[in-house]
Amino acid sequence: MQWETVIGLEVHTQLATKSKIFSGASTAYGAAPNTQACNVDLALPGVLPVLNREAVNCALKFGVAIGAEIGKRSVFARKNYFYPDLPKGYQISQFELPIVGKGELTIEMENGESKVIGITRAHLEEDAGKSLHEDFHGLSGIDLNRAGTPLLEIVSEPDMRSIKEAVAYARKIHQLVVYLGICDGNMQEGSFRVDANLSIRPYGQEAFGTRTELKNINSFRFLERALNYELDRQIDVLEGGGRIVQETRLYDADKDETRSMRSKEEANDYRYFPDPDLLPVEIDESLLEQIRDEMPELPTAKLQRFIQEYALGEKEAKALTASRPLADYYEAVVKAGGETKMAANWVTMELGGALNKAGLSLVDSPVSPEQMGGLLKRIADKTISGKIAKQVFEAIWNGEGDADGVIEAKGLKQITDTGAIEPIIDDIIANNLKQVEQFRAGKEKLLGFFVGQVMKATRGKANPEQVNELLLKKLKA
Ligand code: ADP
Ligand code: MG
Repeated sequence: MQWETVIGLEVHTQLATKSKIFSGASTAYGAAPNTQACNVDLALPGVLPVLNREAVNCALKFGVAIGAEIGKRSVFARKNYFYPDLPKGYQISQFELPIVGKGELTIEMENGESKVIGITRAHLEEDAGKSLHEDFHGLSGIDLNRAGTPLLEIVSEPDMRSIKEAVAYARKIHQLVVYLGICDGNMQEGSFRVDANLSIRPYGQEAFGTRTELKNINSFRFLERALNYELDRQIDVLEGGGRIVQETRLYDADKDETRSMRSKEEANDYRYFPDPDLLPVEIDESLLEQIRDEMPELPTAKLQRFIQEYALGEKEAKALTASRPLADYYEAVVKAGGETKMAANWVTMELGGALNKAGLSLVDSPVSPEQMGGLLKRIADKTISGKIAKQVFEAIWNGEGDADGVIEAKGLKQITDTGAIEPIIDDIIANNLKQVEQFRAGKEKLLGFFVGQVMKATRGKANPEQVNELLLKKLKA
């Protein structure tokens, strides 16, 4: 039997607001347990939630970016369930009237094809606290710092037909929310978590199969692995004559398997009802106008602009626009005088490689875009060769100053004075008569040997083009 994979994702993005969605407590990550949970987050009797305007703005930015219908009137609802990290006994979420309605997102696959994925809705909700099982013997600790942190849950249609598409979609959402500045995208800290729903059906069958839901996946690699495992498992079950039970499963990265967590609850188990403590949210046109005006350039538009404005290839432009900080860095290098193609090369290869090796992210780069631009200017005007530039780059990286200062201090200026290069060449020719003879007898690849000798004698500073030219002239004479 040939099986078709069907996947829909629910992505929880933690919104980058300073305070919580219904209280003034800080959302900063990493504080000592329960130091950032105020009376609202603790659900003390008599306290009332107040909606954080900034969380609404974040949701609207996302809605506008995916061309979604914006819920002009949305309502917060109580989703009732018991869990120790949920002191109110309900989570405030949105149910029937979410703030962001239907929209769509185009994903690009590695083979260059693109596909439109439907987004069903995106709604605002509060996060729960955390249960800590590891630090205590026979007991669980409860940390309510995360309780009340604003989330935007983005629900896709079951439109993905392969694991590759699902991963590409998750990556695209991640890129978008980080571009929009509404989420820091830090997956290790749980700012971006994915629930993946997967089912299979025989090719040609219209009705979907029964799905399982894989909860709380916090890396793209785990997403791919969890889906792969689950796909194989479902095929095994169905081909073994069994049937799939609709349930929530947990992916165990250590064992690389998924296992059942609980049978899937239905929406009506939660007894959703409108939260009487919160007014409906009404969005007026002027706020939407303002959000549209302030919309930053989005990844696809930036990619197109980079290709045109900087005459870059699609692949280079894609690499440079993968993240907003990287794109900004590149543009600052160009602005500081770097030639566009050279800058693309140096930013992705030299700088990217050095950052990778040092385990640093771009924001911590010891080389500023201005310094990089200054360095590239000196390659372009032939003050230094590309090879010497790597040496200068290393010095800038090590904090030895700007390109011009380093070139001066280390005496790295390229020798372009033929009067200075000629005697060196004459010397080398005189000392390597055997090679000269072989060259003249037709062994032309010996040119490389001579170039090498000249470069060695000038410590890499001779202008390579001039050396080539002069050598040829003298060897062929
Ligand atoms: P719930 O809120 O109970 O998780 P939803 O109906 O909101 O359920 O759907 C959640 C996600 O499951 C959506 O992203 C949707 O695209 C996906 N989904 C629904 N049915 C299927 C299916 N048969 N196979 C794969 N994914 C599905
Ligand atoms: Mg779900």
